[in-house]
Amino acid sequence: MGESSRQAFLKRFFENNSDKENFSLLETVSEHYEKNSANAPYAFARYGLAKDRIVFYKHKLMADLPDYLMDFETGLTATGAKVIYAETAADAAFEICRLVSKGDRVFVSKDRLVNEIGLAARFKSENISFENSRLVDFPYRMLPYPSSVFLQEMAKKIGLEDTKVDLAQQSSMYKKHIADALFKDSVYISGADFLVSTPASVVKIENTGNENLFASFCTKQIIVAGIDQMIPSLQELDYFTSLFTIHAHGSLQAWNHVLYFGPKRQDEIDGPQQMHVILVDNGRTRLLKEDYRRSVFNCIHCDACTALCPVFKHFNLPCHENGSRMMGPLDCVTMPVEDGFDKSGFMAFACTLCGKCSEVCPAGINFQEMILYNRKESVERESFMAISRSQMKLLRKMMLKQKVLDSSYHRLVLKMNFKKSFGSQKEFPDLSKKSFHLRWQENRVENR
Ligand code: SF4
Repeated sequence: MGESSRQAFLKRFFENNSDKENFSLLETVSEHYEKNSANAPYAFARYGLAKDRIVFYKHKLMADLPDYLMDFETGLTATGAKVIYAETAADAAFEICRLVSKGDRVFVSKDRLVNEIGLAARFKSENISFENSRLVDFPYRMLPYPSSVFLQEMAKKIGLEDTKVDLAQQSSMYKKHIADALFKDSVYISGADFLVSTPASVVKIENTGNENLFASFCTKQIIVAGIDQMIPSLQELDYFTSLFTIHAHGSLQAWNHVLYFGPKRQDEIDGPQQMHVILVDNGRTRLLKEDYRRSVFNCIHCDACTALCPVFKHFNLPCHENGSRMMGPLDCVTMPVEDGFDKSGFMAFACTLCGKCSEVCPAGINFQEMILYNRKESVERESFMAISRSQMKLLRKMMLKQKVLDSSYHRLVLKMNFKKSFGSQKEFPDLSKKSFHLRWQENRVENR
């Protein structure tokens, strides 16, 4: 039944919900997404058409995914980058550890895919230390001594007192020096927002400037992406990015739309010397084989469904910060298939079927249908049920007897069988001491 996974899920859920500070922070995030979703239809002349286009191009992609992946690999390899296929999350984390050399300074961006492959835990077990790439802490957090001393030293080293050096030169000298001081032998690991098959490229959308900074100066860049993040060509990119940014950021354009076409070329000033793209499958091809679940591949990972879901909206951030896998309504569909129903079948039941996710999803995913399908499969496999089929048969037999219902015995039987499924946070309802039949009889006598 995957009891330990379910218990870990419930523990995380109740811990996160009891933290008042995180709770109010996540409420703000949720409000932001609510506003974005409400405004999205007004940002397009024909919002419905924009959504249909996403579905159309994604279907086209799914029909010929191996070809698109091959074009992507061929194109990117031609520029000197390396493309690595990882069948499982563990394979992806293993490949990354292999690429990190002793003495490298490792920066990790907190992206969805980086968390999905469990990189933080893997680094911990391999004794690889790393820092989060966050501009708010950068660069002063990383300096070996106070920033004022560092800047003075730098000014001296690069001769800023020399009046002949103009401002533009000074600035590029500064940048080069920072790069040498902080990014020497550095590895930058991040996720991608989209992969483009032709011309082969990786797209990253962000509002902070982190991506540009770290990717420009690092020595080795490692990008982790799911095979479902592929789009056919640059021509369609605009359809995807505009729907993504309006839902995730609240505007049609984010500050930075960064496209990577490979490692640094000879004529370029900055960029990584090596670029590796890890393409993660992790159960995705299994989902692709099933007609009734393959629409999850339409997802553009805007996170609107997760931020607005009554179950998941208070579930992620603190754990996401810690490098745990971010979860949302999509996982109620995918996890039982990816991890197996025995381990993660309970996820099909972590949903109220309120339909908010389907309502806001720009990729037109019908979650409820797929979640109900998972529930059906879960029951058929007896992988996650409050009581077993044979127990249910016995219960039915007993409950069909009026004598049992009239006695207090039925309350005991129900409690014994269902109390566990209510969990430790919820009280088992107080059942009526008398059956309906008894009360009706009593009423009849009284009213005579
Ligand atoms: S399922 Fe839809 S709403 Fe959720 S992240 Fe994907 S595109 Fe966004």
